[in-house]
Amino acid sequence: MIKVGVLGAAGKMGSEVCRAVSDDSELELVTQVSRGDELQRLTEAGTEVAVEFTDHSVAKKHALFCLSNDIHVVIGTTGFSDEDLAEIEAAANEGSANAFYAPNFALGAVLMMLFAAKAAPHFATAEIIERHHQRKLDAPSGTSLMTARKMNEARGDSAWGTLEGETEKVPGSRGGNVGGIQIHSLRDPGSVAHQEVVLGNTGEILTIKHDSLDRISFMPGVLLAVKKISTLDGLTVGLENLLGL
Ligand code: NAD
Repeated sequence: MIKVGVLGAAGKMGSEVCRAVSDDSELELVTQVSRGDELQRLTEAGTEVAVEFTDHSVAKKHALFCLSNDIHVVIGTTGFSDEDLAEIEAAANEGSANAFYAPNFALGAVLMMLFAAKAAPHFATAEIIERHHQRKLDAPSGTSLMTARKMNEARGDSAWGTLEGETEKVPGSRGGNVGGIQIHSLRDPGSVAHQEVVLGNTGEILTIKHDSLDRISFMPGVLLAVKKISTLDGLTVGLENLLGL
């Protein structure tokens, strides 16, 4: 039995993780940490793997606490900067515990990113439309940023097409630009987590779309990371690394 602690246990993702861990015969839920609780609860409970779904303002501190106390940490909270991830990686390399971060734990979303990267070198333009519930605090989503990064890596030095003479009458109308890919963030009360990657050539459009309709879609990925993290090394980013994709 792997002893698991959940940070952000009262939240939408955290409570789903608590349920999934409790229902898994290979895992034992030993502690739940909510806002206001001491992080020492993790060490006192003998936590081997912590799962982090809180807020990006505290998630790095939580990850560093786990790593410095030899607790593996599976991170789902989004909104990290590259510098934050570098700091977590350095801490994971220093100690005996590992870190795993996935901006999206849904299998379909991981495949969407890989398909988009595969298509990227063959199209002139790309835009990403991501859509989440209204209480999501960071924009654009971690998934859209990782998708854009993978697409740009796949494209190498070849620049995306630009529209000559384009002007924004309202600043921000064309979204945020990540290496030539425009990202548009929609927030509404009815959504969970949705993304469309729209690739264009003259006379054709390829749309790759993924919808998480229920937070349960993230659980198989979270549980897989919890079970595999002790076999990894340092910081691993992306569920695709655990799926052999
Ligand atoms: P939420 O607001 O429902 O839950 C966050 C919880 O963290 C709240 O209960 C809050 O009180 C708690 N919290 C805040 N500060 C804390 C602290 N210092 N100590 C302990 N608990 C603290 O949000 P959510 O929808 O569950 O999302 C949480 C994070 O997960 C967000 O960053 C979101 O973008 C991300 N997310 C990631 C994935 C993924 O697949 N990686 C999927 C969905 C959401």
